[in-house]
Amino acid sequence: MGYHRLDLPPLHLETKALWFTLPDRAVEEVVAGGRDLAGGLHGAEHALIAVMPYHVVCDRHDIGGLSTSFHAATGAPTIFVYDGYEGGIGLAEKAFALLPAVAGTAHELVRDCGCTAGCPACIYSPKCGNQNQPLDREAAVSILDDLAGRLSVTGRHPSNP
Ligand SMILES: [Zn+2]
Ligand SMILES: [Zn+2]
Repeated sequence: MGYHRLDLPPLHLETKALWFTLPDRAVEEVVAGGRDLAGGLHGAEHALIAVMPYHVVCDRHDIGGLSTSFHAATGAPTIFVYDGYEGGIGLAEKAFALLPAVAGTAHELVRDCGCTAGCPACIYSPKCGNQNQPLDREAAVSILDDLAGRLSVTGRHPSNP
């Protein structure tokens, strides 16, 4: 019905997360295609959260996410997916162990969706804290393609390009 700025103390949540960064060449591919990097990271984050319940057996509301075009701790574009419970309940750890499958399913979900610019079946999230803005479906497909490709070919830690 409306949005209003509130003056409240910050909330703190200590939990566990998995994260991955985007290598330069994947960033260049998104930018060269005229797509929105922040929208792609955000869409990829939503897609990963959407498919995680199938792999780790949970509800999507048990998981939170954060994506940014630059994070000071990683020095690169980064997507975080975290347990939405104090101290963590093992979901991010389980998803990390299954990440090639999680990333592959997320990639297929967005790539094969019948929509044109993103929809609730692929990159829109019912619990997004940013009103599903920005989102860029083509950039999300590109980012998830890169992640799934790196995981299936190298099997290395996803933070390493
Ligand atoms: Zn869609
Ligand atoms: Zn969001």
